[in-house]
Amino acid sequence: MKRNVLIIGAGGVAHVVAHKCAQNNARLGDINIASRTVGKCQAILDSIRDKSSLQQPGHLEAHALDAMDVDATARLIRATRSQIVINVGSPFLNMSVLQACIETGAAYLDTAIHEDPRKVCETPPWYANYEWKRRQACRDAGVTAVLGVGFDPGVVNAYARYAIDTCFDSVESIDIIDVNAGSHGRYFATNFDPEINFREFVSTVWSWENSAWKANAMFEHCKEWDLPVTGRSTTYLTGHDELHSMSQNLGVPNIRFWMGFGEHYINVFTVLKNLGLLSEQPVRTARGQEVVPLEVVKAVLPDPASLAPDYTGKTCIGDLVRGTKHGKPQEVLIYNICDHKACFEEVGSQAISYTAGVPAVAAAMLIADGTWDVREMANVEELDPVPFIALMNKMGLETRIKDARGDRVVEPERGAAFRPEVRMRANAR
Ligand code: NDP
Repeated sequence: MKRNVLIIGAGGVAHVVAHKCAQNNARLGDINIASRTVGKCQAILDSIRDKSSLQQPGHLEAHALDAMDVDATARLIRATRSQIVINVGSPFLNMSVLQACIETGAAYLDTAIHEDPRKVCETPPWYANYEWKRRQACRDAGVTAVLGVGFDPGVVNAYARYAIDTCFDSVESIDIIDVNAGSHGRYFATNFDPEINFREFVSTVWSWENSAWKANAMFEHCKEWDLPVTGRSTTYLTGHDELHSMSQNLGVPNIRFWMGFGEHYINVFTVLKNLGLLSEQPVRTARGQEVVPLEVVKAVLPDPASLAPDYTGKTCIGDLVRGTKHGKPQEVLIYNICDHKACFEEVGSQAISYTAGVPAVAAAMLIADGTWDVREMANVEELDPVPFIALMNKMGLETRIKDARGDRVVEPERGAAFRPEVRMRANAR
C-alpha cells in the first residue's frame, strides 16, 4: 500500500489531478502540490476548498519547486513523505522527476513523453531516447513508473489492450481518433500547453504502418469519421506519444493517430509555422535579446486553463480496432465522450484537462492499493486495463464500446481476462 501524493505542476491538468486526488483522499492520503510559482499551487488548493472537493478532512499543501533540480525534488518527496509522484508539469521535467523518484523509492506517473527543449518530433521509438533508458534503474530500485497515463497517451493505450484481450484473436490495425467538437469562443487558443501542442507536429509526424515507421508531413493525410455524439469529423494523421510504445509492445502491424482540426486552426498554424514563429531554436532580436519564437507564441496565447468557463461542446476520443475473431472480420470502437461544461461544473476545468487528469489519478489509486504497483517501469498497455477502466467509470470518464452488437457502456469487471503474454513480449525487449 502506498500513500501521500506529490503533484508536480500547477497548470490545467494539475488542477484536475488535485481535485480528483482530493475527492479520493481517503485512499491517497496527504496531497502536496509544487511548481515554480507557488501562487498557482495555492490557487488550485483554494479552488479545492471552494468546491469542497475533499472526501474527508486531510492535508493540502503548496510548495515552490524547480523540478529540473533533482536534489530539491528528492528533498520535497522525502519531506512530504510522498510515496506517489504525479508529474503533470511540462514534459521537459520528466527525466529529472523520474530520477528523484528512483532515488527516493516513490512511484512515478506522467502524462506525456519526455521532451528536450531544443529538439522536436524525435526519432522513433521516442521513449527509447529517454525514459526506457531508466528501465533497469527502476527495476533495481523496485520503483513503479507508469508512463503516459493521461487520455492520449494513456486511456487509449488501455483501450487497445482491452480490445486485444477481449474482442479479437488477431488485430490488424488500431486507429486512435481524437476529436474535440467543443468551442471556446476565442480567436485562437490551444487546449493544453501551446508550446507542447505545436511541438507535436511542427516537423515530421510518425505513424506505424506494416510493422515499420513511416514519416509523414503534417496535414498530408486526411480522413473523415462518423463518430458517436460528435458526428462527422475531419481528422489528420499526426504523430503522438502512444505510437512510440504501443508499436513496440502490442505486436499490431498498423497503429495510427488521427486528430481533428478545423480549417481556422490549420490556417493559423500554417501562417505561424511559415513565418518561423513555431521554431524551437533561439533567434536574436535587434536589441541583442535571445528568444525562442515558440516560447513567445506561448506567452501571447490564452492560458488553456482560462478557456474552461466559456467552453461548450463535447470530445470523443477512442480506438477503432480492426482484426479477426473466430476467423471472421471484426471492428470495434472503444471510446469516451466528455462534456466541457460538465467538467467545469464539477472541478472548474475544460474537458481536455479533465480527460488527461482523471486517468493519472485513477492510476495513482491503483498503485496506492497495490493493483498497479508493479515495481518497474511500464507503459499503460503493459498493465491490466480492467481495474483501470472500471475505476474511471466511477470517476467521471465512462468507457463505451460500439461493435456489431450495438453501442454500450463497458463494464470490464464482468469476465474480462488479462493476457499476460502481451506483457511478456514487452519485457523480452
Ligand atoms: P501547463 O503548461 O498548463 O502546466 C505546466 C505546469 O508545469 C505549469 O503549471 C508550470 O508551472 C509547471 N512547470 C514548468 N516548469 C517547471 C519546473 N521547472 N518546475 C516545476 N514546475 C514547472 O500544462 P498542462 O497542464 O496543459 O499539461 C501538463 C502536462 O500534461 C503536459 O506534460 C502535457 O503535455 C500533458 N497533457 C497530457 C494529455 C494526455 O491526454 N495525455 C492531455 C493534455 C496535456 P510554473 O510555471 O509555476 O513552474
